[in-house]
Amino acid sequence: SLTIGIVGLPNVGKSTLFNALTKNDVLAANYPFATIEPNVGVVGVPDPRLEKLAEIFGSQKIIPATVSFVDIAGIVRGASEGAGLGNKFLANIRESDAICQVIRVFTDPDVVHVDGKVSPADDIETINTELVLADMQTLEKAVPRLEKESRKDKERAALLSAALEAQKVLDEGRTLFAAGVDPEPLRELTLMTTKPFLYVFNVDADELANEGMLDELRALVAPAEAIFLDAQTESELIELPAEEAAELLESIGQNEPGLDQLAKVGFRTLGLQTYLTAGPKEARAWTIPVGATAPQAAGVIHTDFQRGFIKAEIISYDQLVEAGSMAEAKSKGWVRMEGKEYVMADGDVVEFRFNV
Ligand code: GDP
Repeated sequence: SLTIGIVGLPNVGKSTLFNALTKNDVLAANYPFATIEPNVGVVGVPDPRLEKLAEIFGSQKIIPATVSFVDIAGIVRGASEGAGLGNKFLANIRESDAICQVIRVFTDPDVVHVDGKVSPADDIETINTELVLADMQTLEKAVPRLEKESRKDKERAALLSAALEAQKVLDEGRTLFAAGVDPEPLRELTLMTTKPFLYVFNVDADELANEGMLDELRALVAPAEAIFLDAQTESELIELPAEEAAELLESIGQNEPGLDQLAKVGFRTLGLQTYLTAGPKEARAWTIPVGATAPQAAGVIHTDFQRGFIKAEIISYDQLVEAGSMAEAKSKGWVRMEGKEYVMADGDVVEFRFNV
């Protein structure tokens, strides 16, 4: 499944946030047989549509889509040269589908900052520089090889020219993602800064409503998405019963846990969407890439569904809610039969027909 790597300087609240992510009980509740690695946290993507579906179908259980986060320790200044945990973290980042930077904004004199002062802009710069340097090293090795290969092979020439373009961007100190470079032609080189970035600002709880400050931080990373949360509060929220958690959130002027926002933004950043299934047993969201066809969507449930795909009975979530029940939707002629070529839309409520 797709994962987001969490990076950040030491003492910015990564472990605190990560603990909250792993204590999240979405896996235990919905996937009792799943085992996950100790450095992986899984969060359910909040989706109010599932509650509504469960109501319509009388479902016993709700199973949301999930996003996995991997804790990637060890980024410090000089990491691309082997400082700190050094190159090990680079391999971990290469395996992630997106990169989430945790940035310290909270000011606590008891928590030392590695560079002696809290400065979000400097920290982002430090991390981006390490990633940019690592990509430059990759390209320095690759380009001479590609030059040789492309003398014989036109396809290699295309990769070479993409690599040279990428080098220019990196030389300016910019990440390939921020510069809008298309990752596709470069895929083979597994560069890190082509991956989508998102930013978590770890803010003192009493600053979470300080819109002026949040706007400034947002501007630092735009067009990447920014999430603001207080990691310490998040780790407390996760331990509380729903009612008390809601009270704590309200007391800091928030209406949604930061983890929920993180799950939603992470999902979006990965370029994913969901379709829905529902019945008396469960109402469930299934994760597919944007552009997936109906058989591909069926394959997410079971490979046999994809192989034996015949057709899909589909209604959009909005229409189903308007009709109020499946029977009513059918009598209105709103339930469509779609074939192999159908491209799924977000929020399609689906029942597959297949041969076994
Ligand atoms: P990491 O090195 O990035 O994993 O940082 P940790 O999660 O271990 O946090 C470092 C220290 O900062 C710990 O003592 C945390 O309790 C504290 N800390 C983490 N998040 C916050 C926060 O939002 N506010 C405050 N005041 N302290 C925090």
